[in-house]
Amino acid sequence: MRVLLVEDDDMIGAAVRQGLTQDGYVVDWARDASEAELALGAQPYEVVLLDLGLPDRSGLEVLADLRRTASDAAVVILTARDAVADRIAGLDTGADDYLVKPFDLDELSARIRAVQRRRKGRAEPLLVHGQLTLNPASHECLWQGAAVSLSAKEFSLLQALMERPGAVLSRAQLEERLYGWGGEVESNAVEVHIYNLRKKLGAETIRTLRGVGYLLGNPS
Ligand code: CA
Repeated sequence: MRVLLVEDDDMIGAAVRQGLTQDGYVVDWARDASEAELALGAQPYEVVLLDLGLPDRSGLEVLADLRRTASDAAVVILTARDAVADRIAGLDTGADDYLVKPFDLDELSARIRAVQRRRKGRAEPLLVHGQLTLNPASHECLWQGAAVSLSAKEFSLLQALMERPGAVLSRAQLEERLYGWGGEVESNAVEVHIYNLRKKLGAETIRTLRGVGYLLGNPS
């Protein structure tokens, strides 16, 4: 899952980026409002973590602009303890949730999963397709009742497909999901991960539409 982190504090930003990357998220880090707006204009994000006290503009203005576009990104505001009025304004401007600094990284991860579920209209934390089950919280994958060990990138790729069953995702869409800014994208990375997923989960689990992209096979 691709996350935009908007935070000017180096220590908080570095800690959040490291923690979420370890959890398998792809994190792009914008240090001010103008970097954030460039990033938001350049590509879709599923989640935006937004500090409100930014050096150039208020995070609230970034949020208001984002909600004026058709973006369906989930937004979690990161604020200081004494900024109650800002948190209320943030929720009223279209934020999905907020966290008060200093916060626990595990709680941040859990909030991200929760806002993602709500955005996708799912209250159920598991993704299920036939005999395949993914748990985004624990990073567990069950196939035909047995646990299967997946790499972080294999898990992200499979999660992208399982979140939109029936949809065809292009290689470019999957690459976007797997790599952040400046990440080296090897030309055949997606194909390699798909190959490995098919070895682990059966050839029929992921279908290729030649020249178009990939989608889940029929549930079995
Ligand atoms: Ca700040």
